[in-house]
Amino acid sequence: MSIATNLLTIKEILPDHVTLVAVSKTKSNEEILEAYESEQRVFGENKIQEMALKWESLPKDIQWHMIGHVQRNKVKYMAEFVSLIHGVDSLRLLMEINKQAKKYNRKISCLLQMHIAEEDSKFGLDMSELDAIIKSEEFKQLENIKLVGLMGMATFTSDKTQIRKEFKHLKCIFDDLKNVLPDLSILSMGMSGDYTIAIEEGSNMVRIGSSIFGSRNYSN
Ligand SMILES: *Cc1c(COP(=O)(O)O)cnc(C)c1O
Repeated sequence: MSIATNLLTIKEILPDHVTLVAVSKTKSNEEILEAYESEQRVFGENKIQEMALKWESLPKDIQWHMIGHVQRNKVKYMAEFVSLIHGVDSLRLLMEINKQAKKYNRKISCLLQMHIAEEDSKFGLDMSELDAIIKSEEFKQLENIKLVGLMGMATFTSDKTQIRKEFKHLKCIFDDLKNVLPDLSILSMGMSGDYTIAIEEGSNMVRIGSSIFGSRNYSN
């Protein structure tokens, strides 16, 4: 199947309120352009320097999302252009993003990544860490970041009941948090293997890679 056909198939399934992030990590500029020709404009990468190289050489109306784990010392390479950072999991990282955004006179949109999976290998915050960030004085003073929602990854399992339970949990956290922060609007959950469940459980942003571009030759 071609990238264009895959995209079309997925877009037919997605409800209008769900944003598709085409996860292009490890994929070439040519492959990304094929998706671009099919009108896809939002792309997700998990390595900052790879994303920066692609930003430099590809059309400037592409919106680049950082979906991977973010190292603080690399925030400076994306501060000029990144449109949404999904994987924010500490106050120190938020403060660094704020500092780098300020240099470009930007307000960078961020999602806090919650730990919802059973495995402890996955990154993300637990409830008490989330609470501590939201209530901190430092957070309230960050003028160059805009917290717009939450992101989470379900356990890598074929047990659909388990996956659904985890997405339901994240949706609950999201709804509760909206009582405190009414501007939150984005709930990023769902990948190639589980996005239909994620949407049923309230996701409005899905991050899909292999179902669009085919499987990756790994080192990621
Ligand atoms: C790679 C990746 C995806 C996409 O995974 P697929 O299974 O290829 O759709 C989504 N989210 C994150 C955080 C990723 O790293």
